[in-house]
Amino acid sequence: MTVSVSAPGKAFLIGEYAVLEGAPSIVTAVDVRAVAHVPTDEAAPPMSAVVRCAHARAIDYLRQLGGDIEIDLRVPLVDTGRFYLGTRKLGLGSSAAVTAAVVGHHLAAHGLDPRDPDVQRDALELAMAAHAEAQGGGGSGADVAAAVLGGTLRFAHGKAESIEPLPGLHLGFVDAGYPAITSELVRRVREGEAAHPEQYAAAMEVLSAAARDFIEAYVTEPGQVPDPVELQARFERIRDASDRHNRGLRMLQDMAGASFVTPEITTIIEQAEADGLAAKPSGASGGDLVVVMATDRTALDRLSERLQREHGLVLRTNLVAHAEGLRAEERLPTNSRLAGFFKLSVAERREAVARSSGLSLERLAELDAGSFDVQRANHMIENVVGTMELPLAIATNFRINGRDFLVPMCVEEASVVAAASNAAKMIRAGGGFAAHSDPPWMIAQVQLTPRTDDFDAEGVGDRIREASAELLALADEAHPRLLIRGGGARDLEVRVVDPAMIVVHVLVDCRDAMGANLLNTVAETVAPRLETLTGWQAGLRILSNLSDRRCTHISARVPPDALAGKGFSGPQVARGIASASRFAELDPYRATTHNKGIMNGVDAVVLATGNDWRAMEASAHAYAARSGRYGPLATWREGEDGWLEGRMSLPAAVGVVGGATRTHPVARLALEILGCDGGAELGQVMAAAGLASNLAALRALATEGIQRGHMGLHARNVAASAGAEGEEIDRLARELASQGAFDAAAAKAALNRIRRAKPAA
Ligand code: NAD
Repeated sequence: MTVSVSAPGKAFLIGEYAVLEGAPSIVTAVDVRAVAHVPTDEAAPPMSAVVRCAHARAIDYLRQLGGDIEIDLRVPLVDTGRFYLGTRKLGLGSSAAVTAAVVGHHLAAHGLDPRDPDVQRDALELAMAAHAEAQGGGGSGADVAAAVLGGTLRFAHGKAESIEPLPGLHLGFVDAGYPAITSELVRRVREGEAAHPEQYAAAMEVLSAAARDFIEAYVTEPGQVPDPVELQARFERIRDASDRHNRGLRMLQDMAGASFVTPEITTIIEQAEADGLAAKPSGASGGDLVVVMATDRTALDRLSERLQREHGLVLRTNLVAHAEGLRAEERLPTNSRLAGFFKLSVAERREAVARSSGLSLERLAELDAGSFDVQRANHMIENVVGTMELPLAIATNFRINGRDFLVPMCVEEASVVAAASNAAKMIRAGGGFAAHSDPPWMIAQVQLTPRTDDFDAEGVGDRIREASAELLALADEAHPRLLIRGGGARDLEVRVVDPAMIVVHVLVDCRDAMGANLLNTVAETVAPRLETLTGWQAGLRILSNLSDRRCTHISARVPPDALAGKGFSGPQVARGIASASRFAELDPYRATTHNKGIMNGVDAVVLATGNDWRAMEASAHAYAARSGRYGPLATWREGEDGWLEGRMSLPAAVGVVGGATRTHPVARLALEILGCDGGAELGQVMAAAGLASNLAALRALATEGIQRGHMGLHARNVAASAGAEGEEIDRLARELASQGAFDAAAAKAALNRIRRAKPAA
């Protein structure tokens, strides 16, 4: 039986220092998960101390339970990829999650349900002991409790109590960069405590009082939903407690001569405070994450936008609080490093995909031609006379934010998939792609023109702005289900684009859908009210396909060694690629081709997943011209350490629901193979495919030129066009590649030669 059990990471909301002195704290489980599973045939990596201790204690426990079930003594493998951002591990309690996942895995393999509260109670005891043993004591245990029990916990004196998250309080985690080293900080604090006991006590007093006040304001009775006035009052107390916590941290910092509050943390806190939000560092490691709290989701999104634009600091939308604790997973973590995949037959490739994705071979049979039949097609568009098949392939080696993806690509052009897989391997050598996404805001536009000659556009614009709240509420009425899913109208913008034309933008968070139909309904819903409000005439009412508020931001670092080859050293290739990037930045003729190469990868995934590639294309190119001059979407530089660094922002109006994503059987299957958490992650995969395609093209261009590799792969197309059949195709393609001639006449001549040379049947 294949058992895979996962456990979440954690983040402190308050009390991370105070808890060490016996004060209460609040810790929440964060939905990045360590996944423990039985070893596959790969060589097992060396066992870490937490895995060893958790394994030993779980086996002992099962032995004591007795019974007839044979105990599986294999040490599980644990995937912690989700705790990483590129090569950097986020301080989210991965060792506690690993401990919990290993214990949970053993109990589940023995037939116990890791979600069962009684099983979790025993798992918690085992994991606490194992974690303390592996770490040599010292921690509070709050991280282990969050990893096993999940949700949000009040934690004090080693005891965890589940509490309800405060309804109406939105949390965001902003990445403050590299953390200071926890053990070093703890040592400095301990030294400071010994040298200045009074200062230490004073700082701890402030931190403990702040924790108690925060908790009093946060904790509600189960089922109790505070009204807006009470919520505001509670929020203000939370904000005040967070301020005092920050003051206590600075006192501790001064005492210990250690840096807890880095300049990045200070910026995040100041920016949040300027918007009236609460913010404080999360965790005792003096860096990494700052938790920001607001009663208004839009305020959090606005702060996120500003932090990113002005300070390059990112609110990580994938860090979702109140996550589930131990649970069994249906799928094993995907391994996209399928060496030699390209050499396999189609049937063997399907087997490899099935093994790696956890899908059944029967499910993959949907990839056979004909699964999308004419009747289905006839329901999808008009005037149908048939269907048209295109190749669907899997690109390998993709690793994004520590997670592996098998990337389905649908494309008719040879070499796109090979190039993307090859470049993804180079990027993997540098730790993989790091990506984050804007909140999924789309823009609905309503055009207004005056009905008479006597008009004042600015005055009308002000009237619309004053009615923002009413208009946003009206927009929300169009999609009540979207509100339940956490989306909805977020903001309203008025643009006077001409003295006689106003354009109103309603910004809508459309969650995991592309949102075109959702947004069009919003535009049509608010337009009549805009007419009565202004006396102007509503014209066009439709979404904007320039989805610049919904970008995916992706970056990759490639070690020079991974770039070397074909007679070129790594630094030579890196320099060549940086120069190629400069060329695209200076010349729109080159930028267009540069971006075409990016869209080779992007569109192939957009198409494979049933998303709207016209929308993606329109948006990407408009975005590439946002400065008034068309430029490259991705740029590359040589870093100070000689590594090649690439980055790209790409509007990604794509969904995992809606459109053809669920109605086309192959698109649905492609989405299953990917297993993305939602629309944002799917956008990241598309951007990764684009950046990889770009890297592959630039590397070829900066070295031997594009034609050799491309035509080598294209040769099979040329061979088929020349009339080659069956085994002749590969043979002719090899022949063409070896002679370096790919024109039709050369192909025909070579085919004739091959046929003449064949022995008569
Ligand atoms: P859609 O009309 O199918 O709506 C999405 C549906 O999914 C909604 O009913 C929503 O309630 C539901 N849903 C379920 N789970 C959800 C979740 N987690 N998050 C969000 N919604 C969820 O699809 P759409 O995305 O509104 O529109 C996309 C389609 O519109 C595409 O086929 C596109 O080609 C087409 N379109 C595009 C344009 C354009 O780009 N200019 C114009 C018109 C139509």
